[in-house]
Amino acid sequence: MDCLFCKIVAGDIPARKLYEDDQVVAFHDIGPQAPVHFLVIPKKHIATLHDLGEEDKALAGHMLFTAQRLAKEQGCEQGFRAVMNCNEDGGQTVYHIHMHVLGKRQLAWPPG
Ligand code: 5GP
Ligand code: ZN
Repeated sequence: MDCLFCKIVAGDIPARKLYEDDQVVAFHDIGPQAPVHFLVIPKKHIATLHDLGEEDKALAGHMLFTAQRLAKEQGCEQGFRAVMNCNEDGGQTVYHIHMHVLGKRQLAWPPG
């Protein structure tokens, strides 16, 4: 297994976890870009959003629902951003899909 986030799922690499269930894990980003910045990942290894299949639709919905629930818990009542970077042009650096949740500061649009 040569995937960083699979290693976090397995507990082989430590992470500051916020939440875990049978399908997803959420943990604080190691290089936070906002006062709140955590990642929601599926336990299942899916390399990029391009690789999401029909069978993953419920899982993708669960990631989004988990993101909004945890954002509330983290005090992002004023708003937040949930974003997934896909492949090179999207700026993806870890090839196991993850939803970034950023909050507690004013975020600019469009992103750079
Ligand atoms: P991407 O650029 O692929 O959308 O985002 C990858 C994110 O994973 C980055 O924000 C980066 O800071 C975070 N990251 C990379 N390695 C680790 C790690 O070992 N632990 C944690 N918690 N986050 C990581
Ligand atoms: Zn993986």
